[in-house]
Amino acid sequence: MKRPFTRLLRAATDLILPRYCVHCGHSCNHRNYEFLCKKCAYEIFFAQNPCCTICGYPYLGAITGPKQCPHCAELNPLFDQGKILFLAQGPGRSLLHELKYRHGFYVLRDIASMVLNSSDYTAYINGATLIPVPLHPVKFRERGFNQSQKLATMLAKTCQAKVLNLLRRTKFTQTQTRLNRHLRYQNVKNAFAIATNARVIADDDYILIDDVFTTGSTLNACAQVLRQAGAKSIRVATIGHG
Ligand SMILES: [Zn+2]
Ligand SMILES: [Zn+2]
Repeated sequence: MKRPFTRLLRAATDLILPRYCVHCGHSCNHRNYEFLCKKCAYEIFFAQNPCCTICGYPYLGAITGPKQCPHCAELNPLFDQGKILFLAQGPGRSLLHELKYRHGFYVLRDIASMVLNSSDYTAYINGATLIPVPLHPVKFRERGFNQSQKLATMLAKTCQAKVLNLLRRTKFTQTQTRLNRHLRYQNVKNAFAIATNARVIADDDYILIDDVFTTGSTLNACAQVLRQAGAKSIRVATIGHG
C-alpha cells in the first residue's frame, strides 16, 4: 500500500516521464507496480505451495506418489532447501532481463513489492545471512554490477536479513545459457572459493541468492564450498525459475 503523497508524486512524475511496461511496452497503469502494466502483472506465475522443496518449482495439478521434481531429478543437491518467487517466463523473465542485461535497477522496486506480497517468501528469508552468487572480477568489470548482489541487498532490506559476500569466483566460466545439464556441472565445478579474509560460521543460517534457478549447478557448486568450510544450514533462494 503506497502512501497518498507517494501516489501524488508518482502521478506528477508520470506526466513528465511516463513509465512503460518492461514486457509489452504499453504505458503502466498498475497501482502496485511501476514497470508492469495490469495485463502483464496478471500473467506472472507466482510460486504457490505445494512446491518442490529443492528448487521451489510449483507442483501443478494433482500430486500422486512421492514428490519428485523433474528439474531436480539429477541434481543431488548439496543445499537443504530452495525457494523461488515466480516462473522466469513472459513478464517475469522480462523483469529479470531488464535488471541483468539493461542495468534496470528500477525493477528492483517492483520485485520488492512482489516479495512483500508473498508471506511465504519473506518468512523464508527473514533473519538469514544472504550470500550472493559471486561474479568473476572480469565479468564484474564487463557488466558493472552483480545482479545477485543487487537482489540480495533488496531482499535484506525487504525481509530483514543481512548480506555477506562470503564467496568469490576463482574460475572464469563461459555463460551457462546454451549448455546442457552435464556441461553446466563441469563448467562451474571448482569455480568458487571462500572469499579472502571471510570465515564460515558453522551455525549461521545461510541462503545463497541468485536471479534464476535453472539446473541448480551453480548454486550446488557454491553450496559445496560452504559445506566443505563447515556450514551446517545452507538454503537457496532465487527470484525466477526456468
Ligand atoms: Zn505489459
Ligand atoms: Zn525441483
